[in-house]
Amino acid sequence: MRTILLPLAIALLFSPLDMARESPAAAPPPTPPDIIVRARALIDGTHGEALRNAEIVIRGNRILEVRTAGASAPPPGAQVIDLGDVTVLPGLIDCHTHIFLQGEDPAAGGYDVQLLKYPASYRAARAVVAARRALEQGFTTIRDLETEGAGYGDVGIKQAINDGYIPGPRMFVVTRAISTTGGYNLEGYAPEIEVPKGAQLIDGPVEARKAARQQLDHGADWIKVYMTHRSWLDEQGALVSQPTLTVEELKAIVDEAHGWRRKVACHAYSGIGLQRALDGGCDSIEHGLELTDAQIAQMLKQGTWLVPTLAVYYYDPDPPETASGKRDRKRVEVHVVSFRKALHAGVKIAFGTDVGGFPWTDPIAQEFVREVELGMTPMQAIQSATSRAAELLGKRGELGVVAPGALADLVAVPGDPLADVALLQKVSFVMKDGVVFKGQTRVMP
Ligand SMILES: [Zn+2]
Repeated sequence: MRTILLPLAIALLFSPLDMARESPAAAPPPTPPDIIVRARALIDGTHGEALRNAEIVIRGNRILEVRTAGASAPPPGAQVIDLGDVTVLPGLIDCHTHIFLQGEDPAAGGYDVQLLKYPASYRAARAVVAARRALEQGFTTIRDLETEGAGYGDVGIKQAINDGYIPGPRMFVVTRAISTTGGYNLEGYAPEIEVPKGAQLIDGPVEARKAARQQLDHGADWIKVYMTHRSWLDEQGALVSQPTLTVEELKAIVDEAHGWRRKVACHAYSGIGLQRALDGGCDSIEHGLELTDAQIAQMLKQGTWLVPTLAVYYYDPDPPETASGKRDRKRVEVHVVSFRKALHAGVKIAFGTDVGGFPWTDPIAQEFVREVELGMTPMQAIQSATSRAAELLGKRGELGVVAPGALADLVAVPGDPLADVALLQKVSFVMKDGVVFKGQTRVMP
């Protein structure tokens, strides 16, 4: 090989390409002007208090400087966006979304028709709308936790956003998700009929590792695993969740994902499956409806994140006298207790909603209200969707913070969300990557 490469290297040294490089270069494209965003208050995502009369200097897609307004003259040619009486925050992050779900109405066929009757293109078109809805509501980053039978559709949507063809948040995608035989929908059809499944089903550590490899190979940023499936109440009225993967199966997935420097999110409600999720070394527990004190201690020891998704469990419970209705109410009851215990124990909590489980037309930010109702301060709730969420995503300092060097993702809400966290449902201005997506603003020369 060396004898072939050496003459090639010599040829390249004197190539016409090299000569061309020395000739006068074409004029570089004009640099876009710096942008200065001014606002009455700034919550930067990490500090405990808001900065009054803030000014954020943006160059390209990064934040250059954060200072008090008027402290120094704007850079020459800078464009000033004065947002007035608003609070600016880092672009919000939802760590648990489903752009391929639309809060399916059971009366309209529910989940099953998505997989049985809709062309992939129809589902993708709706996912494009969902992605836009996230950005409109100020969520500039999402971790989208599986496509529910739409294969690798999330990879394509993410690419189309990144390439600028459609508006949407930055996406961390998981592709198909993994469960076991008997561990995911579609279910309840005649055994003679082969129906599609909403996740990739595996049995045994070999298949588990292979599924993780396939998903990582095709663009998964995270791996999502369903560690519990059905849930019901036992004779004593306690919540029971059907476990799915064994510890060995999960360990094979976690080992594979960690080798790729990727992380594993585990859907886990309670009981055996949740315990296996922790013993198998999963990085984030999704939902965590019922956490024992020992499990909370294990999460603290292992540094496991909790993404509680509180709001979705208040949606459409079945009638109270039915078995599923009692089950639905029990879920909320134990979830509230678990969340409070985890919060007080100091478990790392990141904001996630399961939106898609409820319609994308509803406010994603309703989750902040639930977090505060259950004991978070408004600032803790905001940080769960900014700096804390960025930490979960391995993007500390780059996302979820308004500070020099961070990506220029900003949102604004009227008034003071520390006084009324529900104001986060009224995002009036959205900038992603230094580009204004939403908000008619006064631009001063
Ligand atoms: Zn989910």
